[in-house]
Amino acid sequence: MQIVRTPGSARAIARTLPRPVGLVPTMGALHAGHLALVRRARSENASVVASIFVNPMQFGPSEDFEKYPRAFEADAEQLEAAGVDLLYAPEAARMYPPGFASAITVGDVSRGFEGARRPGHFDGVATVVAKLFHAIEPTSAYFGQKDVQQTAVIRTFVRDLDFATNIVVAPTIREPDGLALSSRNVYLTPEQRAAAPSLYRAIRAVADAVAAGERDPARACAIGAALVEAPLALEYLAVVDAQTFAPLGEAAGPAVVVAVAAAGTTRLLDNVSIPGPGGVDPIVTPARPRRAFSVSRPKQ
Ligand code: AMP
Repeated sequence: MQIVRTPGSARAIARTLPRPVGLVPTMGALHAGHLALVRRARSENASVVASIFVNPMQFGPSEDFEKYPRAFEADAEQLEAAGVDLLYAPEAARMYPPGFASAITVGDVSRGFEGARRPGHFDGVATVVAKLFHAIEPTSAYFGQKDVQQTAVIRTFVRDLDFATNIVVAPTIREPDGLALSSRNVYLTPEQRAAAPSLYRAIRAVADAVAAGERDPARACAIGAALVEAPLALEYLAVVDAQTFAPLGEAAGPAVVVAVAAAGTTRLLDNVSIPGPGGVDPIVTPARPRRAFSVSRPKQ
């Protein structure tokens, strides 16, 4: 596995990789959710690139940029063992040199929910993802359903701005008790950790109520909200359109149940799909049949 640190060297080396090329963007502190994306990319591409970049542009001034967990050596070892060909870990100063003055701003889909609570967050996400796409020129890029509004924002600018990269969204990986894996789960106290799975039970209950015929989003969400346990404090719980993130007047699939609960200063973010007619999931990209290309194997 090669490691590169600048956009120019990333592009030069990425252009030598056998195509199709799959890219897995991350902020590091890797867990099984990230590694599932790498495995998916490995099974669908001839080459796999991962990136690790804690992107200052997507953190607000009072957020956890400084204390965000960083574990570069362990991450690099795991990526190499998972068969990644190229690791792009740019320096912030090379991504945002003095005079940097541009951003990608996405419309309504980026304005509600996380966009409303984290001003500028999705501009930072869209801008850095666009920069990663220019550096790596991936055939496909892999994202987790865990950050579902992020996937909707990325799908929107990729479509609007004619990016050639195919966006693949893979299911959320969870702890056995239902808590979605997150690099930020290390911040949880034992008491917060014990209550954390109640958020997943809450969103599942909303999705199940809609599947059972509940059409009123407020009633469906009230069922879920009642399940969230202290010390978690629910910030929002809603049934939204999977593409636009507009709250639905009538709860029916295809849709997404989105929720955030605060555990002290840590925000737990989760969502589940409500399938559309025929059971089609509105978020997750179906796995592609294996293609006939020579897959480079991890070095022993
Ligand atoms: P992050 O390092 O948190 O920016 O996440 C990098 C990628 O991993 C994003 O596409 C996330 O949506 C995805 N991801 C994070 N947590 C999970 C999870 N529990 N299951 C699946 N994908 C995840």
